[in-house]
Amino acid sequence: MLKISNLHKSYPIGDSSLHVLKGINLEVAEGEMVAIMGSSGSGKSTLLNIIGMLDEADDGEYILDGVPIKNLTEKKAAIYRNKFLGFIFQSFNLINYKNALENVALPLYYQGMKRAERHELGLFHLEKVGLANWAHHLPNELSGGQKQRVAIARALAANPKLLLADEPTGALDTATSYEIMAFIQQLNDEGKTILMVTHEEDIANMCKRIVRLKDGVIMEDVFVNQVRAEQYV
Ligand code: ADP
Ligand code: MG
Repeated sequence: MLKISNLHKSYPIGDSSLHVLKGINLEVAEGEMVAIMGSSGSGKSTLLNIIGMLDEADDGEYILDGVPIKNLTEKKAAIYRNKFLGFIFQSFNLINYKNALENVALPLYYQGMKRAERHELGLFHLEKVGLANWAHHLPNELSGGQKQRVAIARALAANPKLLLADEPTGALDTATSYEIMAFIQQLNDEGKTILMVTHEEDIANMCKRIVRLKDGVIMEDVFVNQVRAEQYV
């Protein structure tokens, strides 16, 4: 699914720079569910953003589904992003003045799909996350867990190959976190490849593989026995 070799990333800080990723090597196969861990500031989001083509590495190689990701025009990058990737964020990143269904249908709009078709497919995905009855509600009328479920439905609307999640449970209480993890595990059971950043051990143990970042490199990369979230729901 993806292969990263000797990836480097620095941020300019005044006259000097902060070297955040110092030669990352990572391969993820189709169907995996991987947690990226590391202390705050260790570069987890930086790595996920590069994988998500929201940011670019300074050096190294990144191949996503057979496509080398380098020096792409913004237009081409947007096309690949839409085709390959779905995103979930800690703060949900829903559009506040659009209702749940409109939020879910937005990626389909960018794909050029007609309104009636968008709404039909959007409703299908809202139903999958158990929120068909909330389609016409605005984000501020939903609980945190419901907002994240809308965000998951939106991330899946365009049927991406890879789902990227940056601290998807970071803003949720424990019970709701496990509920969201049960959803994400179900998606993975159905074959979706998932890469998520978390700093919580119990959440990471619900993945199948844990990659730990430290001092700009991967210091541990292990397959684990997946703890099932539904037993806590
Ligand atoms: P994590 O997600 O693991 O907490 P980040 O990838 O967000 O870490 O950040 C890694 C380091 O890079 C931190 O020290 C952070 O302050 C710095 N950093 C992140 N983004 C930028 C940016 N756009 N400009 C400058 N420094 C940044
Ligand atoms: Mg982060």
